[in-house]
Amino acid sequence: MTDSPVLIAGGGIGGLATALTLQQIGVPCIVFEAVREMRPLGVGINLQPNAVRELDDLGITHADLDTVGLPAQEWALVGLNGNDIYAEPRGRAAGYDWPQYAVHRGRFHLLLYRKLIERAGLQAVRLGSRVSGYAQNSDGSVTARIEHADGTTSTERGRLLIGADGIHSAVRAQMHPDQPPIHWGGAVMWRGVTRARPIRTGASFIGLGTHRHRVVIYPISQPDESGLALINWIAEVTMDNAEGWKQAGWFRQVPIADFAHHFASWNYDWLDVPALIAGADGAYENPMIDRDPVTTWQDGPVALLGDAAHAMYPTGSNGASQAIIDARVLGAAMLEHGVTAAALAAYNARLCGPISQLILRNRGAGPFGLLNMVDERCGGSFTDIDDVIPPAEREAFMAGYKKAAGFAIEQLNTAPRTIAEGATVEHVKAA
Ligand SMILES: Cc1cc2nc3c(=O)[nH]c(=O)nc-3n(C[C@H](O)[C@H](O)[C@H](O)COP(=O)(O)OP(=O)(O)OC[C@H]3O[C@@H](n4cnc5c(N)ncnc54)[C@H](O)[C@@H]3O)c2cc1C
Repeated sequence: MTDSPVLIAGGGIGGLATALTLQQIGVPCIVFEAVREMRPLGVGINLQPNAVRELDDLGITHADLDTVGLPAQEWALVGLNGNDIYAEPRGRAAGYDWPQYAVHRGRFHLLLYRKLIERAGLQAVRLGSRVSGYAQNSDGSVTARIEHADGTTSTERGRLLIGADGIHSAVRAQMHPDQPPIHWGGAVMWRGVTRARPIRTGASFIGLGTHRHRVVIYPISQPDESGLALINWIAEVTMDNAEGWKQAGWFRQVPIADFAHHFASWNYDWLDVPALIAGADGAYENPMIDRDPVTTWQDGPVALLGDAAHAMYPTGSNGASQAIIDARVLGAAMLEHGVTAAALAAYNARLCGPISQLILRNRGAGPFGLLNMVDERCGGSFTDIDDVIPPAEREAFMAGYKKAAGFAIEQLNTAPRTIAEGATVEHVKAA
């Protein structure tokens, strides 16, 4: 059993960060990924300073991240009238010892994949291999059932199984057979990327509109010679969800004309939203969904990680960051408790409770909650935001969110490394 690897279901950002961490601390592992080929899918995501710190410790440098995105400088909420509601510096400009990065999800994902293959070899990831379930063995190990893309099936024995298989996780479905269906609160997002001129600081995250009708815009590349950068945008409308999500699938390409009318009049002297949306090569529609928290992410030698553990609304820009933190906390738990179910229990005890709270906090609009407050207090119409929400109240609201999400400045800057430099699980190496 000591020779068996740790099995990882899912080679998304969470699964690959886990594999890179285990490789770093000397724990053999294999990633089973359902897709046949890794492709640069998705649009923009943010890597918060707490995650960038962990990437640093994993040897994924800022020069690496500069190839897939850029350091974010500002986070701002702007009312429908074009007036600022709240703005704050981000990353190093805010006093963090690590930057925040806005990156292209697909390119960042492929960066992690390349790093893993360079360090652990091609055999570290088995593509076209979907984990469909697991069985616990009497010696404490676990056997995963694998469905291959060619139609065959097999089993694989491992010391542990980490379910990093995303929001539709098969591992979670077996661990929590009575879990309710996916939760949709009524918001629909259309996402795209347009080559355009960056605004404000040149690396600003801007949330514009109301809590039920808004766009989010931020660049995910440095500008080229002509001053144009890749601008990620998310256009969002909240609608009646009484009948549930009616479209087939959760993520699909749609014509821009299907939704552009919701934003037709959103033209400011500093931003032309209709032109930005119309300039994209294509757009993707997905409902804003999450899952109700579960009481545990662990079942003996099996644990959930990333979206499989805590799929949450993207309002806090922390889905990918939290998946990376999960991987590092799991690695630290293995350093303390060995490659054992006890390590999974320690990981679960540390994260499941607080991150389940974060799911609910993001459901309540996360940092965008300021938009709800503006709406409640003045119907979204104001001249001076200080008359609606005093500055101290705005600061306190944001500080509370950052603390809950684990990226409060002092807390992060003074925290010791999650995994000490050079630490390895010695007895695994010796086995
Ligand atoms: C194709 C894609 C595009 C995305 N685009 C965006 C985006 O533009 N913006 C954004 O904010 N978030 C996006 N996300 C979500 C975001 O990446 C995650 O919220 C976050 O990174 C946490 O990642 P994760 O690894 O836990 O889950 P995911 O990123 O969902 O990764 C799960 C991985 O597991 C694989 N998988 C699923 N089931 C199985 C199984 N049973 N066995 C083996 N493998 C399995 C999937 O193919 C996937 O590679 C996207 C996710 C995916 C999969």
